[in-house]
Amino acid sequence: MMRVGIDIGGTKTQAVALADSGEIAASVTLPTMRGEDAVLATTTSSVVALAATAGRELGEFSSIGIGIPGHVDRVGGRVRNAVNLGVRSLELGPALRERFGIPVEIDNDVTAAAAGAAHLMSLSGTVAFLNLGTGLAAGIVVDGVAWRGQAGAAGEIGHLPVDPHGLECPCGQRGCLETIASGAGLRRAWPAGGAHPGRGLVRAMESGDADARRAFEGLVSGAAGCVRILALSIDPQTIVIGGGLSRLGEPLRQALGATLREWSGTSPFIADLKLPERVQFLPENTPAAAVGAALVSRT
Ligand SMILES: [Zn+2]
Repeated sequence: MMRVGIDIGGTKTQAVALADSGEIAASVTLPTMRGEDAVLATTTSSVVALAATAGRELGEFSSIGIGIPGHVDRVGGRVRNAVNLGVRSLELGPALRERFGIPVEIDNDVTAAAAGAAHLMSLSGTVAFLNLGTGLAAGIVVDGVAWRGQAGAAGEIGHLPVDPHGLECPCGQRGCLETIASGAGLRRAWPAGGAHPGRGLVRAMESGDADARRAFEGLVSGAAGCVRILALSIDPQTIVIGGGLSRLGEPLRQALGATLREWSGTSPFIADLKLPERVQFLPENTPAAAVGAALVSRT
């Protein structure tokens, strides 16, 4: 039997079939379309395509786990207000259960990514996954088991206000970390970068664009702040950095390390936390959320 894991992202839907050994047996990627009907149709198609790619019957799949942004009701299998997907409310779990006749679990995409990263990177103990995407949030797993808190808010550090004079956040507060260290924050800090500022940011910075440099520095200090918050609140062995902005790659890795070392240099308390040693970047093109969704469908 194989478990299916699906990561429904703003631009693509990725499905993997996970063998009992934990190996990825097959993988399929489809473009995500917006709206309830389209999201359900794409998810359904991805499962059918996965069976064809794996050369298996649908009946050989034992469960489906889904990682999706938005507010997830795990018990009812419903997702609400997944703004990037154009979804107000969708009973994804019941619909897929009816279609395929196997257990379906819906989970927060960042929690799923944390479970997948811990599995794929062979990380034990407590692992926090910091998603630097359009939004900003962390997912937490303890010895392979997702830790969500009583209402699923554990790790929602993007909405920790850090600047009382900062920008208004769509959540209704002011100066949230997400307004600084996220794709949405970067768009506001560097409007010249267009809809996908992460793509041109390093190039613009290297060619002397002062606004791009300032936006990058804001992002780095926000991300470093997230690392410190995670270390001081949950004290994980490893903090994995992933999400779209992690593709800024080496410049981000170096600047983040430099900032953490600088803080360590001025504070023995922070130095004792050994922050730079705990940070790892998710290797590029690692299907962490899809694999994690397949895994957490059992827990
Ligand atoms: Zn907020």
